[in-house]
Amino acid sequence: MGPKRSKLLERLGIKTIYDLLYYFPRDYNDFSKVQKISESKIGANITIQATIDGIQNRVARRGKSILEVFVSDETGTIAATWFNQPFLVNKFHVGDRLFLHGKVNSYKYLQLLSPEYEILRDGASDVNGWGIIPVYPLTEHISQTQLRKIILTVLQQYAEFVEDVFPHTLTKKYLFSPAAIAIQHIHFPPSMEQLNRAKNRLIYEELFVLEIAMALRRLSIKGEQGISFKAGVNVDAHIRNIIPFTLTGAQERVIREIKDDMKNTKPMNRLLQGDVGSGKTVIALYAALIAVANGYQAAFMAPTELLAQQHFHTVQKFLQKSQVRLGLLTGSSDAKYKKEILAQLSNGKIDLIVGTHALIEEPIMFKNLGLVVIDEQHKFGVLQRLKLRKKGMSPDVLIMTATPIPRTLAITLFGDMDISFLDELPPGRIPAMTYWISKNKETTAYEFIRGEIKKGRQVFVIYPLVEQSEKLELKSAVTETERLRNEIFPECRVGLLHGKMKPAEKEQVMADFKEKRYDILVSTIIIEVGIDVPNATIMVIEHAERFGLAQLHQLRGRIGRGSEQSYCLLFGVPKSAVSRERLRTMVKTCDGFKIAEMDFKLRGPGEFFGTRQHGLPELKISNLFHDFPILQKARKDAFEIVNKDPYLSSEEYQKIKQRVMDVFKDRLELFTIR
Ligand code: ADP
Ligand code: MG
Repeated sequence: MGPKRSKLLERLGIKTIYDLLYYFPRDYNDFSKVQKISESKIGANITIQATIDGIQNRVARRGKSILEVFVSDETGTIAATWFNQPFLVNKFHVGDRLFLHGKVNSYKYLQLLSPEYEILRDGASDVNGWGIIPVYPLTEHISQTQLRKIILTVLQQYAEFVEDVFPHTLTKKYLFSPAAIAIQHIHFPPSMEQLNRAKNRLIYEELFVLEIAMALRRLSIKGEQGISFKAGVNVDAHIRNIIPFTLTGAQERVIREIKDDMKNTKPMNRLLQGDVGSGKTVIALYAALIAVANGYQAAFMAPTELLAQQHFHTVQKFLQKSQVRLGLLTGSSDAKYKKEILAQLSNGKIDLIVGTHALIEEPIMFKNLGLVVIDEQHKFGVLQRLKLRKKGMSPDVLIMTATPIPRTLAITLFGDMDISFLDELPPGRIPAMTYWISKNKETTAYEFIRGEIKKGRQVFVIYPLVEQSEKLELKSAVTETERLRNEIFPECRVGLLHGKMKPAEKEQVMADFKEKRYDILVSTIIIEVGIDVPNATIMVIEHAERFGLAQLHQLRGRIGRGSEQSYCLLFGVPKSAVSRERLRTMVKTCDGFKIAEMDFKLRGPGEFFGTRQHGLPELKISNLFHDFPILQKARKDAFEIVNKDPYLSSEEYQKIKQRVMDVFKDRLELFTIR
């Protein structure tokens, strides 16, 4: 292949022959059933075999070019029409026989608009005869036909070298055909049935590799020698003494689970899933204090400065009367202060450090880091977690997330972690009432808000990121603040918070809002996670249709934190069925797990997980949602194997071991494969 074409393929992520073999079709055209032109139904897809009678390439109004190829079979005639592709004319010659596949349209006569075509030369087609034809994801300057030819050539020469990774037992159990066959059939299936067999096999293979990796990771973590903390009645009573409320049943249960982990010599690697407002912070504090009571340091990481600051203030309040030495470190801390904190971390003068991911940047050394808590995990990558792990010996790790993953899936996917569910809200919470406000109800909504403000409540008004442009975002939030201040709520105090402000300014505005110096806080999305202002009972989301479900749920989580009824008002006009469904879901339920499930369905797993962030390889063929039954099987098989042979040292596991290393490449650090 020449350099030009390799460049094009590289854009598709294809660099090697292996990549080509594993570049799977996104769809198939089933041309195996040829129809007659007389069977054309307007609006339906049709596949025909016909002869070219005439060709016309012309320029219509406004310079638009139209290529029409008139074809016929023994039952009728139809035109194949392409717009603005005049160069296609060279492909066709009167008298050629060809297959066409496309949607039937009626103009002055019957048309196929931009159909797929395959010209039959000397009675034979270029590509695998004519049957079920792959449709690949493309990039500019490379056509389906070209890519098909490339892949077909590669298949013919190299498919036989694709190796089976499965041990015999699995091949026998599932009656898998050889990988070489599966790879051929996934590209050019002889029949739909064989396509499905090949697909199932490759899906299983992909998930099996993933789950083997999970099993190895779990094992390597479990194999590490960690700290065995003591958490007896004394420590316990001490900690409880500083918590001003009674813990919920769920909090008690989760704390028990964490305590058991911390007492164990094996390092904790636990994921805490809890809905917004379920009270995760105090659990983090609890765990941190166990570490501190044992003479170790604890680190509490948040995804944004604002959150880190908030956590710091919260923790500070809790610890007022204790002797725990607390520190705060964020990216914007000034150099001198930073230096001092760093010194105190390395000589052990700080027990508990709260901060952003600045906490894991290279120069920072801990004296004896025993526990790491990572809040709002979806903003952190696995590798970052690893970096921090490396700072201590083998600190216990607790990851908290408020973007729940459907339960079954979480257990299966995060196979390397133990999972706790915080599925109960603190008492006295009243779920927010959510309304979707149509344009003509906006005035009514403003009146309602005015009434609540008169009762002493506070309001968030959220603006989305407009057109990905920070400038525009800023403008709309600023303009909106002016409008609210001058026109809608002239009697109220309206504050503004946006991403362009300096950290100190942001903190000041947040503090002012908390201290009720504003009635209304207009903000961009930076307020999304974790902000805690119990007196704010109204969340207005402008252009709600532009937010994802998880974001909407997070935003709504900012209210309903006190004992008053709270309200979430969604302004916006959805432009698609999906965005309408998102708003409907929000109105229907406040349950984070239900919302997660819906989100998963609407977005598809790829986007849902942002796989890279989770340290997962890109899934080429499987869909974690649809292929869940296969995932479960693959997981069971994988864990059985790794339990039996933890280092995959047996001869029959060498292939799978190699594959796992290939697929996980740079993420391999996460495991110990010997
Ligand atoms: P999240 O899980 O979203 O991080 P937080 O930890 O911020 O939730 O807790 C939300 C609010 O609930 C905080 O104001 C916190 O002090 C309060 N809270 C947490 N646990 C309890 C409890 N058991 N009883 C009463 N209030 C609680
Ligand atoms: Mg939180």
